[in-house]
Amino acid sequence: MTAPSKSRRALVLDLDGVLLDTRPVMRQAWRAVRERHGIDVPFDAYEQHLGRPFEDIMELLGLADANLVHHTYAEASQQSCELARPFDGVEEALHAFAAADWLLGVVTSKPFDRAAPLLARLGCPFAAVRTPNAEVRGKPAPDPLMLALVDLATDPASAVFVGDMAVDRECARRAGVPYLHAAWGYGEPGSPAPEIAYGPRDLLRLLGTGCEPGPFVMGSLL
Ligand SMILES: [Mg+2]
Repeated sequence: MTAPSKSRRALVLDLDGVLLDTRPVMRQAWRAVRERHGIDVPFDAYEQHLGRPFEDIMELLGLADANLVHHTYAEASQQSCELARPFDGVEEALHAFAAADWLLGVVTSKPFDRAAPLLARLGCPFAAVRTPNAEVRGKPAPDPLMLALVDLATDPASAVFVGDMAVDRECARRAGVPYLHAAWGYGEPGSPAPEIAYGPRDLLRLLGTGCEPGPFVMGSLL
């Protein structure tokens, strides 16, 4: 039996800076890295590369021993995970999408073991969660978003990707998925200006637009 060819609408979201405010956790974890490994790189520099897999950030920062550093970072993140908070209105918005028969997915560069408990806090029915693994490239490559679409059995044009960093926008562009910038996150929308949501509840206006190409899509596909 083959999968049905009908394409359902899908809302796919980044985690950090879109679903949950994890910056206090990341700041704490990076402090632990600096102290334990004697690394003289401020959080501001680390933060510029948020959204990429950790190993890629280490490479961009010119840091060696990425595995050891990652171990410290992961351990410190687990210890301070209670500092993470869902953004106000996120659960409400996602439940509205689910009630309107949209599929929900997550594409994040956070490893699954740390992403899963954070997502569980939201109590939302995510049908696809794509996290880094050795087999595929991470954001800004389109791989994880394209795989999420396969998981959801839907088309790029039927989906929307909500992110907060330039890597999210590039990932969406390369996957052919319309992009919506979460202005409450950590990054700038970039140029030319994409469609912007100013708060999680602002996502709800998508419910009335369907997924036909329109003003919402134009800026994101340039
Ligand atoms: Mg993010």
